[in-house]
Amino acid sequence: MNRCSFCGRSQKEVNFLISGISGHICDSCVEQAKEIIEQEFKGKISNDHKLKIYKPKQIKEFLDQYVIGQDDAKKYLSVAVYNHFKRILTPSASDPVEIEKSNIIMVGPTGTGKTLLARTIAKLLNVPFTIVDATVFTEAGYVGEDVESILSRLLQAADYNVKAAERGIVFIDEIDKIARKGDNPSITRDVGGEGVQQGLLKLLEGSIVNVPPQGGRKHPEQRYISVDTKNILFICGGAFDGIERKIAQRLNTTVVGFNSAKETAVIDRSNLIQYITPQDLKTFGLIPELIGRLPVLTYLNPLDRDSLRRILTEPKNSLIKQYVKLFELDGISLEFEEAVLDFIVDKAIEFKLGARGLRSICEIIMIDAMFELPTSKKKSLTITLEYAQEKMRKADVSRLKAA
Ligand code: ADP
Repeated sequence: MNRCSFCGRSQKEVNFLISGISGHICDSCVEQAKEIIEQEFKGKISNDHKLKIYKPKQIKEFLDQYVIGQDDAKKYLSVAVYNHFKRILTPSASDPVEIEKSNIIMVGPTGTGKTLLARTIAKLLNVPFTIVDATVFTEAGYVGEDVESILSRLLQAADYNVKAAERGIVFIDEIDKIARKGDNPSITRDVGGEGVQQGLLKLLEGSIVNVPPQGGRKHPEQRYISVDTKNILFICGGAFDGIERKIAQRLNTTVVGFNSAKETAVIDRSNLIQYITPQDLKTFGLIPELIGRLPVLTYLNPLDRDSLRRILTEPKNSLIKQYVKLFELDGISLEFEEAVLDFIVDKAIEFKLGARGLRSICEIIMIDAMFELPTSKKKSLTITLEYAQEKMRKADVSRLKAA
């Protein structure tokens, strides 16, 4: 009687037996073999094939397609990411020169593109990516989330493929909110401050961390997944409100010495953030150990009128392109008068909304058209300045201000 050459079951014991040249295989062994192949393949894809290395200039060119301006931040990010991947792909055992991790910290006003940069990098690299907000973490013993839950989210983003997660990117937003209050270590416990910084240190420096798969807080009966953070790239971002004052103070006090005349001459007082140094982060309240684990420090410029105007139309998936696409899907050709774009930018500046406000303003202008046109016979629409002004006049702009 024919038997499966893999599990040994006879033809009667299985649903189906396939014959080969010198053996047979049953339906359940086929299923199992298929699963094994898929698992292997999945692992391989996420570990090797998709890990394409891009040169710094290629990374910057990609970022340029989505993010307007911020050339310095783009350059630093591109180099850091490139070095990071070189590091991952160099077996450290064989080489005495061990390349250190290049975690990044980006400082700049809110809504200037920090998250967008991190997100865009992750899109290019095709690695698991997650964004976490530093403010939700607290010290052990307080209500809130443990820092390990950062890795839970990364695991979720990686579909629980630990190997893939171990090469992922984590964006930690609002890192400035866990700064120590004041420059002196406080006597009273500082919830969500220094303790959280200490917790983050462990993740940033590269260690094996036991991660609760579902996130939240750890508890004893839980099963953990071990994640090695050695090759996870951490990008931190924060607005660091008021740090310009600290930079100014430092610049004023350090411009003594043989270089002073030259240095004072070139300082651009309107944008002090460009002179940021690790020392300023320390003065702001980050602990030196944490700063040391974030060796790449870069900054984002405030967005001026010209940048806001470009953000509306230039990025590959700019707001205006998105609206045009939305209407196109209904067979309607949509156009904006140039003056409307300037008007949108003016309003964003007037309400001090920055780039985030562009979207809310566009929504106000477009909502009626988006509601009515799909059921009308109109095949084209041009948004004129009068039309936009009219919509803004009627809208409840107090909502915008609160945003
Ligand atoms: P933050 O610096 O606070 O992390 P985000 O990156 O979240 O700011 O920016 C908010 C939104 O504003 C983005 O989703 C994007 O639409 C727009 N935006 C901000 N800065 C830029 C920029 N430099 N180029 C293109 N769009 C930008």
